[in-house]
Amino acid sequence: MKQLVLLGGGHAHLAVLKDLAERPLEGWQVLLVTPFRRQIYSGMLPGWVAGHYAIDDCAIALDTLAKRARIEISLTACTGLNLSANTVACTDGTTVHFDLLSIDTGPEPALGNLPGALEHALPIRPIEGFVAAWPVLVKRIVAQSNSFELAVLGAGAAGVELALAIHRRALTEGWSHVRITLIGSDALPLEGVAGRARLDLARLLAQRSIRWIGERRAMRIAPKQIEFEQGASVEFDACIALTGAAAPSWPRTAGMATDACGFIRVASTLQATLHPHILAAGDVAAYENPRPKSGVFAVRAGPVLAKNLRALCEGEPPQPWSPQQRALYLISTGDQQAVAAWGRWSWRGAWVWRWKDRIDRQFVAGFGADHARGEKDKT
Ligand SMILES: Cc1cc2nc3c(=O)[nH]c(=O)nc-3n(C[C@H](O)[C@H](O)[C@H](O)COP(=O)(O)OP(=O)(O)OC[C@H]3O[C@@H](n4cnc5c(N)ncnc54)[C@H](O)[C@@H]3O)c2cc1C
Repeated sequence: MKQLVLLGGGHAHLAVLKDLAERPLEGWQVLLVTPFRRQIYSGMLPGWVAGHYAIDDCAIALDTLAKRARIEISLTACTGLNLSANTVACTDGTTVHFDLLSIDTGPEPALGNLPGALEHALPIRPIEGFVAAWPVLVKRIVAQSNSFELAVLGAGAAGVELALAIHRRALTEGWSHVRITLIGSDALPLEGVAGRARLDLARLLAQRSIRWIGERRAMRIAPKQIEFEQGASVEFDACIALTGAAAPSWPRTAGMATDACGFIRVASTLQATLHPHILAAGDVAAYENPRPKSGVFAVRAGPVLAKNLRALCEGEPPQPWSPQQRALYLISTGDQQAVAAWGRWSWRGAWVWRWKDRIDRQFVAGFGADHARGEKDKT
């Protein structure tokens, strides 16, 4: 029997798993390779830090989805590909053969070029690593009675949300000794977002006494300080790093066509440029028309990936797809309000938070127990 291997339980593969549960593939066995049993929905992670959600509210059970799709799951991670033998090498020492491979392994933290980062900073990815480390950091904050300097390095949407979420948590828990510093490489926070939202967020940070340090590129992280290419160092008791998305090294090492950063080049059908029996979607992919690394594009790629994997398994031609031009950013501000940014337009209010909260909860519920019950009720 031929084997389809799904590498990673990312946003696009969630749609593939759902599709397989609805209609199994004839004549193919399918294997999901994932280091974790669950996928934490990153859009809700700042809400978990702020104290609005329990971690289970943000979790999608990959093992349940695999069971529902009647496919095998292997709890390990890919470390390399052999494209002559069509095999995946895994961290647990196993080698997995594939006839068709689909990659949705997301990004790695962009810390490779920052000496000291792996030793002295807490990266947001892998998200499971952060989820395990955050309560330990909370204990340190609580145990320290004098001032606690918390640096958030990286001021894209995720960094801004996290800084504001920690601020909210500090308010509700009475951590008046915590000072939060958000550091970014642009003059204003919210790198990658256009328009007025950036100025509004900078004002909001100031109102909440979150120290903003812009136009700084970190050069090195020492045990208790961040050193920059220019300007004075920033001292910290803890540093959380959200410095962007980097590509894993193994696609390029294996000989796949990648963009300059190492992300897998794919055609409009999501097939890898030089290897049509390998598909990739989400942040690990470099689309023909480049898009920012964002969950929105990974989610949108899901149904296309599902359809094209099925087509290839059934000997049909895969269909082309073009990601939408723009994505709506919904950025929570910690206080159960949020900012919506669409191009140069932006809005802020409690209604934006309620809207984001509904979208996020519905997304997770769409892959959860309620969904399973709904499916069962239909049969
Ligand atoms: C705090 C935070 C908040 C964010 N909020 C938003 C938001 O509100 N909206 C938005 O659009 N984007 C948001 N993002 C960005 C979003 O998280 C990413 O763009 C999105 O996760 C990319 O999806 P993906 O499917 O490519 O990968 P991921 O969601 O990262 O999934 C990859 C999966 O592959 C697994 N995996 C990793 N390596 C391997 C391997 N070697 N072998 C096998 N499996 C592997 C991982 O465990 C994971 O299950 C946020 C990011 C962060 C950090």
